[in-house]
Amino acid sequence: MTVLDSVVRSDDVTDHLTSVISAVHRRSPGEAVFHQAVDEVLTALAPVLERHPEYIDARILERLCEPERQVLFRVPWVDDRGDVQVNRGYRVEFNSALGPFKGGLRFHPTVDLGVIRFLGFEQIFKNALTGQAIGAGKGGSDFDPSGRSDGEVMRFCQSFVTELYRHLGEHTDVPAGDIGVGVRELGFMFGQYKRIVNRFEAGVLTGKGVGWSGSHARTEATGYGAVIFLREMLATRGLSLDGRRAVVSGSGNVAIYAIEKAQELGATVVGCSDSSGYVVDDAGIDVALLKEIKEVRRERLSTYVAQRSSARYVTVGSVFDIPCDVVLPSATQNELGADHAATLIRNGVIAVSEGANMPCTAAAVAAFRDAGLLFAPGKAANAGGVATSALEMQQNAARTSWTWHETQDRLDEIMRGIHGHIRDTAATYTSDPDDYVSGAAIGGFTRVADAMLAQGVV
Ligand code: NDP
Repeated sequence: MTVLDSVVRSDDVTDHLTSVISAVHRRSPGEAVFHQAVDEVLTALAPVLERHPEYIDARILERLCEPERQVLFRVPWVDDRGDVQVNRGYRVEFNSALGPFKGGLRFHPTVDLGVIRFLGFEQIFKNALTGQAIGAGKGGSDFDPSGRSDGEVMRFCQSFVTELYRHLGEHTDVPAGDIGVGVRELGFMFGQYKRIVNRFEAGVLTGKGVGWSGSHARTEATGYGAVIFLREMLATRGLSLDGRRAVVSGSGNVAIYAIEKAQELGATVVGCSDSSGYVVDDAGIDVALLKEIKEVRRERLSTYVAQRSSARYVTVGSVFDIPCDVVLPSATQNELGADHAATLIRNGVIAVSEGANMPCTAAAVAAFRDAGLLFAPGKAANAGGVATSALEMQQNAARTSWTWHETQDRLDEIMRGIHGHIRDTAATYTSDPDDYVSGAAIGGFTRVADAMLAQGVV
């Protein structure tokens, strides 16, 4: 057989992709963000399917789009007034070809099955890109922790884990944080898990406090990683972050540490946001003040301006209206649309690195790519969080703890590795090393697909 005999005609690949995508839409009605994530990844896979018909024969795409297991459950708890509250819990265990299911928990009122399936699907490719032995999953609840007392959050977390614990395990499924879930929530969940199983199984959750088997640099990892990826992209054009104006949307875990790292590398971050508005601070965001407000006092971002004379809080327009050179959307999915992209391009932005998962709409991504600027999709740029979670699992398994510098160095190395792998993959399959969207999808896909082929039809 010649090489050409083993190559599938591109018409056949298009037919195959169209059929898989329409089946996903038909079988998961109403899950718009899941459809969006599937469409983006699958359409990027055409060049690899043309060269590797074995993936089509083994129905890898159909299997990838169907989670291995989904758990939906009731989470009853009692609030501070003594009233019974009922929320819904989710865990979608998407793919374990490369390792235990791995991915965060999101507590936010907008959470539904479609949101968790979109996040879990993205996690497959992100986790594979890290090169570590982690599969993919995601979970959460429509519970809203904002405005709730510590006692209410604890009772909710305990009830959540009392059902979920039976599906978890350091070799089975290892959750972490995401929107609304930080060290406080993970602490309550770890405590309840430990109590139920009567075992100090450190590797069952990541993002733990450093004093109780957590890893240094995990809190910082996602935001730092997104900036490291941005640094690497700029370097391919002989550019750096030094002296650049940056905008970071959000003001949570990812945003705070993206701001910190960007400023460490010489940028001035002139804006950040929350769901009510945004701060403009031409002197550069005061990260210590931001941490105090968001992490310690758990207050709204608007209080920042009361203590910072160079800043103003704006509730009309968008944080993306602020003129800047680089942007790190780090709040939530679809926060940056075509209009925002047009404004950013008009204002001369040169690079976009997604700290959040799928923060740019498909139209915004298309606009950035058409404009020829550097664009890093979240599954690549924000992989530093889960990569450091895998380092936490490694430390837990060895019952050891690495230093902050050691962990941060490994994060830097992993992000550089992801960046290089994506560019090589893009160059191989699309002849354009700057095509980070295709490179990330194909680079993650081939690792998972090869493992699935090797492991048979399961
Ligand atoms: P946090 O809960 O710490 O912060 C979320 C931030 O985004 C807050 O500023 C919040 O504002 C804002 N936000 C949330 N929802 C909306 C919305 N619907 N509209 C506008 N603003 C919103 O979450 P993280 O920083 O952990 O997560 C941010 C993003 O990064 C998510 O997409 C997450 O999936 C992704 N991510 C996180 C990782 C991690 O390690 N934490 C790893 C990889 C990806 P407000 O307070 O007003 O709600």
